[in-house]
Amino acid sequence: MRIALDNGPAREVEPGVTVAQALKELGVAMDHEVVAAKVNGHPVDLTASLAHDATLAPIEVHTPEGLEIMRHSTSHLMAEAVRDLFPGVKVAIGPAIEAGFYYDFDTKEPFTPEDLARIEGKMAELAARDLFFVREEIPKDEAIQLFKEEGETYKVELLEGIDQDEVSLYRQGSFVDLCRGPHVPSTGYLQAFKLTGISGAYWRGDERLPMLQRIYGTAFPTQAELERHLELIEEAKRRDHRRLGRELELFSIEEEAGAGLVIYHPKGALLRSLIEDFERQLHLKRGYQMVMGPQMLRADLWAKSGHMENYKDHMYFTEAEGQVYGIKPMNCVAHMLIYKSRVRSYRELPLRYFEIGTVLRHERSGVLHGLTRVRQFTQDDAHIICTPDQVEQEILGVLDLVAEVMAIFGFEYEVELSTRPEKSIGTDEEWDLATTALTNALEARNLPYHICEGEGAFYGPKIDIKLKDALGRAWQCATIQCDFTLPERFALTYVGADGERHRPVMLHRVVLGSLERFLGVLVEHFAGAFPVWLAPVQAILLPITDRVHDYAQEVAQKLRAADLRVEIDLRPETLRYKIREAQLQKIPYMIVVGDREAEKSTISPRLRDGTELKDLEIDTFVNRLKQESRIPFPGENI
Ligand SMILES: [Zn+2]
Ligand SMILES: [Zn+2]
Repeated sequence: MRIALDNGPAREVEPGVTVAQALKELGVAMDHEVVAAKVNGHPVDLTASLAHDATLAPIEVHTPEGLEIMRHSTSHLMAEAVRDLFPGVKVAIGPAIEAGFYYDFDTKEPFTPEDLARIEGKMAELAARDLFFVREEIPKDEAIQLFKEEGETYKVELLEGIDQDEVSLYRQGSFVDLCRGPHVPSTGYLQAFKLTGISGAYWRGDERLPMLQRIYGTAFPTQAELERHLELIEEAKRRDHRRLGRELELFSIEEEAGAGLVIYHPKGALLRSLIEDFERQLHLKRGYQMVMGPQMLRADLWAKSGHMENYKDHMYFTEAEGQVYGIKPMNCVAHMLIYKSRVRSYRELPLRYFEIGTVLRHERSGVLHGLTRVRQFTQDDAHIICTPDQVEQEILGVLDLVAEVMAIFGFEYEVELSTRPEKSIGTDEEWDLATTALTNALEARNLPYHICEGEGAFYGPKIDIKLKDALGRAWQCATIQCDFTLPERFALTYVGADGERHRPVMLHRVVLGSLERFLGVLVEHFAGAFPVWLAPVQAILLPITDRVHDYAQEVAQKLRAADLRVEIDLRPETLRYKIREAQLQKIPYMIVVGDREAEKSTISPRLRDGTELKDLEIDTFVNRLKQESRIPFPGENI
């Protein structure tokens, strides 16, 4: 029989060779880097044997797929360790997740941190024994019998829900699990792992069912990579925007007010309005018009737009005088009404309506998280209404705007193109036209992109842009979505050069996306130490004695007059205490004012890094700070 590598050499081999042998024949180095393989596109174990002609591709551990296989194998190892150490504990499920894995256990006594250390120790022992992961395929009835004997009622329940006659099991050492696989060949492949936490989790995520104990862990190909990851987690904790948001007095989320509802405190509100002001300027420069829609609109309009049908579960409703209103989860509908308010000629197009629009979307309480998942948020939203010919050009304009904004904040980003989902409205031609326009624009700007099949919005394909923060984490920010259906539903038209009425195309787009999420990302990216142009407080004056309060006020006044953001700490606290507080607030400039400065009419500001600027004239400092306060537009010299 004939085996071949994907786009590579081919060989004749005897049927019955294992995948590992076949790869070796084809010249693949079979060290621990290769953990599984794809045979004719399907992931399988290296120990599987080949009976027919096959095209092979090794799955390396340093790929998302390889990592997932390795981590999932580690979850089996953990389950074996738990069963060894805690007889009678039942196992539920144990998948790989982003950056790790978990396994759910049914145990009377919750696990303690000391238990985790013991489990880790046991895992190391089992890994050192290099036990094989052995796959077995058996009739479902036999598997049910087997797990019944083992007392594994959750596995029995899972099996009863499987609609197949045959199922696969994986054994390593004393442990057997119901699993599709594939797995690494043996536990010796699992060298660098760490158990990271414990939490309660309902069986099948259903609160009416038993509460299980979930142990989280992570695993990496090497110890060095694991350590690097654990450092990043520590750093992420240090930068957590929920903690920094409180410490820097930016915002709070109060159970009393409602989950997922953000309350901006003075510095947070200032930071947000700085970003909004900057965005308004930027959009006006790029030919957008500012508009504002109401917070709620009649329910029949939401029926017309398709939201009632496709988005109702995420919407809030209210009623007055017998009229039901839907609180807006998106800003589009009012923008359609503005367009429709009079006859439009092709000469007016494209129209670009920009709104800093606040929306409400219901999210289950379980998924809410700080500023990144909330129920009320504000988008830097715009709808571009244009002729079909203009679509590509407009997408290019948005891509350029995104590039500019990301350069200003200093973020790199990745691009994804999401195509038609199963549940969607619109014709095939419309989807093709829109997808082509998006693709062409990405190609024209030489932007590498990743295709997400079937992940578009229900009304059209989209480009998603994910920024990368200082810790390398990706965050959704901009999206550009093509929409042929909303103009159809609202019967939007324009009069063409031919004097006939035509249907325009609509683009929904945001650049920063949810301002709440973006603020959360900014806080973590800068670890709260915002650059001068963004810092809600740019300088703080710390008078040493009451004698210099007047002088400090005078300096503050001069700075404020120059549009600089300054605070003054007149509290009767020690200087040491005030300095410590200003440092925790991560204010770019701290200005200690004493008799000497008051006499000479100078100041000696200190930077966050400890550098001190001695005896500056106030005007000199004002000019320096004004220079640093300018928005760092790319290509502009500061
Ligand atoms: Zn498995
Ligand atoms: Zn929209």
